[in-house]
Amino acid sequence: MKLELNEQQKMIQKMVREFAEKQVGPIAAELDKKEEYPHKTLKEMAKLGLLGIIIPPEYGGAGLDTISYAIVIEEISRKCASTGVVTSVHNSLVAWPIIKYGTEEQKKKYLPILAKGEKIGAFAGTEPNAGSDLGAMQTTAKLNGNKYIINGDKTFITSGPEAGIIIIFAVTDKEASSKGISAFIVENTFKGFKVGSIFEKLGINASKTSELIFEDMEVPKENLLGSEGDGFKIALSTLDGGRIGIASQAVGIAQACLDESIEYSKQRQQFGRPIAKFQAIQWMIADMATKIEASRWLVYNAAYTKDQGLRFSKEAAMAKLFASETAVDSAIKAVQIHGGYGYTKEYTVERLFRDSKITEIYEGTSEVQRMVISGSLLK
Ligand SMILES: Cc1cc2nc3c(=O)[nH]c(=O)nc-3n(C[C@H](O)[C@H](O)[C@H](O)COP(=O)(O)OP(=O)(O)OC[C@H]3O[C@@H](n4cnc5c(N)ncnc54)[C@H](O)[C@@H]3O)c2cc1C
Repeated sequence: MKLELNEQQKMIQKMVREFAEKQVGPIAAELDKKEEYPHKTLKEMAKLGLLGIIIPPEYGGAGLDTISYAIVIEEISRKCASTGVVTSVHNSLVAWPIIKYGTEEQKKKYLPILAKGEKIGAFAGTEPNAGSDLGAMQTTAKLNGNKYIINGDKTFITSGPEAGIIIIFAVTDKEASSKGISAFIVENTFKGFKVGSIFEKLGINASKTSELIFEDMEVPKENLLGSEGDGFKIALSTLDGGRIGIASQAVGIAQACLDESIEYSKQRQQFGRPIAKFQAIQWMIADMATKIEASRWLVYNAAYTKDQGLRFSKEAAMAKLFASETAVDSAIKAVQIHGGYGYTKEYTVERLFRDSKITEIYEGTSEVQRMVISGSLLK
């Protein structure tokens, strides 16, 4: 057993780290402040192949493994968690289900556009009354000739106002409960598609989160993803992979907390010496570093298990649970190490503190991850 990244993975890490340091980090605070979507960064990322990381080369992507994908999301999130989540959703919640469940026509039509970043992807599952309990969704889809007519409201959709290709879920058979849910590939230009309110949030402010409203939205029959009734299965399996992305985002945020804390504690002097000389600070740094390392290996383990074609729901849930709680804990410690300065917008840790919390909520709350883990152990 070799616990080491391979040469290609190391190369990707170096390339994305350099890119993030030069092009993502310097504008992250400004985008957060202005709540501005990272359009320019996404264009540059597309040129590097980062918007089609997992898309097979025959459809214009880089065709990389899931560990490489995790590395990309960690390195981008280390500098900007908003850009990290947009990239994660685009790749694992939109490109992946099309690769896995799409027809050849759907793959040819949508994957090259996603890989080139010509359109950004979004995933619309959550509804006002269906969050953790996704099976309770009320959006309906009725086949009428060669079109589905879709009605309903989705909420909290990452990239909602910006996305051109959206994977959505709707009920096609009310009597069949979760087996009556179907998935569709929707374009924002379809008649009846509307962006609703854009939320003001605690963190990841540059990622744009909105409602999506479907009023007699017309979706061509050939845009059904999988078969009718496959939607719930598609959503759950997609979210398993998505959780590897969010866990990677959490590792990136936590690593940034550690980076900032090491630098600050070495230069901030109190009682005539750098605060890094105090054991209280050293222990916080040691605890952060240990949990980050453990989180990263849990992510790599989930990614590796996925790439082996094995079941990885439990591994992904463990990685997401532990990494997200590590991100929040690291952010709390990082602000503490920065003292009063850490509570101001002058310092990056203030943003990291706000950005960290969401990793415990989206793509399944920590409570839901514990349900997935215990469910797989107690069956
Ligand atoms: C910034 C942001 C971006 C998002 N992006 C997307 C997106 O792109 N696409 C998308 O579809 N969704 C997205 N979401 C939605 C997100 O996935 C949901 O918010 C999340 O799944 C929780 O659902 P909820 O908010 O309705 O909370 P609820 O489900 O109402 O949960 C409230 C609380 O109850 C707990 N709870 C619920 N059920 C149980 C249970 N059975 N046992 C124990 N505790 C339970 C939860 O853990 C939580 O603590 C996003 C949300 C946010 C805030």
